[in-house]
Amino acid sequence: MKTISSALELKAYLRNENKTIGYVPTMGALHEGHITLIKEAKKNNEVVVVSIFVNPTQFLAGEDLDKYPRRDEADKKICELAGVDVLFMPQADELYFEDEVKIVAPNVRGYVLEGATRPGHFSGVLRVVMKLLNIVNPTNAYFGKKDAQQLNLIELMIKQYFMDVNIVPVDTVRDADGLALSSRNVYLSKEQRQEALKIPKSLYEASKMVSRGIVNVAEIKEQMLKILEPLEIGYVAILSREFEPIDEVVIGESIILVEALVGDTRLLDNIWL
Ligand code: AMP
Repeated sequence: MKTISSALELKAYLRNENKTIGYVPTMGALHEGHITLIKEAKKNNEVVVVSIFVNPTQFLAGEDLDKYPRRDEADKKICELAGVDVLFMPQADELYFEDEVKIVAPNVRGYVLEGATRPGHFSGVLRVVMKLLNIVNPTNAYFGKKDAQQLNLIELMIKQYFMDVNIVPVDTVRDADGLALSSRNVYLSKEQRQEALKIPKSLYEASKMVSRGIVNVAEIKEQMLKILEPLEIGYVAILSREFEPIDEVVIGESIILVEALVGDTRLLDNIWL
C-alpha cells in the first residue's frame, strides 16, 4: 500500500495508473462500515483509494473537531489488511486555500434535517468531496446510506456539476445489537449505548408497521417518537427518496430518518423502505 499526503502527488500517481479507480472517502477511526465500503470498491475496480481526512469545514464552531477520534496508525493497518492500494492522508493546508472559490449546499435540501441543526455543515461536506473527487478522479466512489442526506446532496452535486464519477451507495452496517456503526459511538458510555438502541428499534418498528400495511406517516411517526422517549430528538422524518414530504409511505420510494442526541453525542440512523 502506498501512502500519500500531497494532493498533486496523488493526482500524478493515479493518472499514470490508467486503471479503473474505486474511491472511499473517510474521516478515519475506521470500523466495519468503512471496511464494507472498501470491500465493495475492491470488487469492481482495479485500484482502490481510501482517504482519511477529518475535514474542518464541515464542523461548526463548538462541535467535536478537536476531539474527533484519530487513529492513524490503526487505520493504516486496517487499510493494508483490507487490500487498499493507495491511502491518501492530507493535512488541511494541502486541500484548502485562502479566500477560496466555494461550493455551497443548496438552500432547501442543504438546510433541513441535519442541515437545520448544523447550518453550513453540508457546504463543508460538498466542498471537500468536490476537491477529493477532482484529485482522485475515480471511476466509482463509495458512500454509506447511513449518511443519507449527505449521499443525496453529493448525488445532486454530481448531477448539477456534470461530474463523471459513478456514486455507489452502500447499505448501513450495524453492530450485533442493531446500532449503526459510527466513529462517534466511542463517545457513548455503556448506559448511553443502551439508550441509543432506541434509535434502530424505532426504525425497525416503523418497518414492521409498513409491512403490516400501516403507511400513514403521522401514525408511524407517533409510534416512533414513543419508542424514542426520553431521548432528545433532532428529527424524525419520513420522506420520499428525493427528500420531499409525503403523507404515506410507498415501499421502494421512501426513507425514514432519525437524529437523536444521546448524552452529547448526535446519532444518525435511517431505513430505506
Ligand atoms: P465517515 O468516516 O464517518 O465520514 O464515513 C465515511 C463513509 O463511510 C461515509 O460514506 C459514510 O456514510 C460511510 N459509513 C459510515 N458509517 C457507516 C456504516 N455504519 N455503514 C455503512 N457505511 C458507513
